[in-house]
Amino acid sequence: MNVLDLVRADLRDFGGYGSARKSGLTGHVWLNANESPWASPADPGLGLHRYPEPQPAALRTRLSALYDVPEDTLLMTRGSDEGIDLLTRALCRAEHEAVLVSPPVFGMYAVSARVQGAPVVEVPLVEDGDAFRFDVDATLRALDLAVAKAPIKLVFVCSPSNPTGGAVSNAELERLLRGVAGRALVVVDEAYGEYRAAPGALALREHFPNLVVLRTLSKAFALAGARLGITIADPALIRVLAAIAPPYPLASPAVALALEAVSETAADEAKRRAGRIVAERGRVASALAALDDVRMVYASDANYLLVRFADAEKAFRALLAAGVVVRDQRAAPQLKDALRITIGTAEENDAMLAALDQAKPRRTFPTRTAPLFRV
Ligand code: PMP
Repeated sequence: MNVLDLVRADLRDFGGYGSARKSGLTGHVWLNANESPWASPADPGLGLHRYPEPQPAALRTRLSALYDVPEDTLLMTRGSDEGIDLLTRALCRAEHEAVLVSPPVFGMYAVSARVQGAPVVEVPLVEDGDAFRFDVDATLRALDLAVAKAPIKLVFVCSPSNPTGGAVSNAELERLLRGVAGRALVVVDEAYGEYRAAPGALALREHFPNLVVLRTLSKAFALAGARLGITIADPALIRVLAAIAPPYPLASPAVALALEAVSETAADEAKRRAGRIVAERGRVASALAALDDVRMVYASDANYLLVRFADAEKAFRALLAAGVVVRDQRAAPQLKDALRITIGTAEENDAMLAALDQAKPRRTFPTRTAPLFRV
């Protein structure tokens, strides 16, 4: 299957803006981009008077090693939010081609579709005990049904899913990828992939040209403020996305920081920290489940917990009164009594638990695992 067949016909050969940086010309007197010949007094030595590389080569090389994928399968964007937007624009024409989302789910898929005028088809997650499950069969049925109105070109799979926390197994993803082959791209958003033990969708990449994986440096790599997201896909699709992206999407200071943040040492530290978050997630989940007001704590593969309360308003207010800000999920039809609580440091988590437990101040929480020794 040629993945370009899924792309908008009018964009398949589109070269995009021919920026000065794209020309590939070399020299030592740069008079081709109307830049200032002097660095700004504010410049910390990054050469900011020059436009940045559209896709910085050094960062791409490092990311290709980090994710163990070929360099030409990578596109770096301003957060994965921008990757979502570019995919929507490349695949869907207003009112003609649709995207499929599985609520309750991260809102940007539907927002990008709305901005593009692309219809949104919803196939809700199925609640199943302490998990919400992605419904592969219903998704495949929706693809068939949509053909007459607006064929679905993008299937967004959030895994681990925000806000529910559950991940989709690779066996289920494979079933989905086979089912939609030749008809749609499956975009697996793994923004929280580092908090999950099982291998992610990249393990399937070589078998499925219609698979797109989104990663980000905003979560486990602690760089939300730098805005660096990564789209991993078939090289032909990456070329189209790069062509419709703005000419210089990535700011040089963000790129310099990102390069340090994904160095081998920093990546090891990110891994250790993800381990700490996972340990805290277990402790916090047990502590929450022990509270009288808590009705359900969903299993999570991410750095947050989705929690149902007997009185979510009271819990939300109690947390706010203690200065603890969590994400209110009650606008989602399936989550009328739910809050999403990010896992912070042990101290932050204790502050959150204490605020929820204030009606019973003498209750004690499971203690953290004590270190074997301390030096
Ligand atoms: N995907 C998911 C599932 C998210 O939760 C978020 C951020 N909340 C993003 C993508 C966007 O991340 P970023 O643009 O910072 O890379």
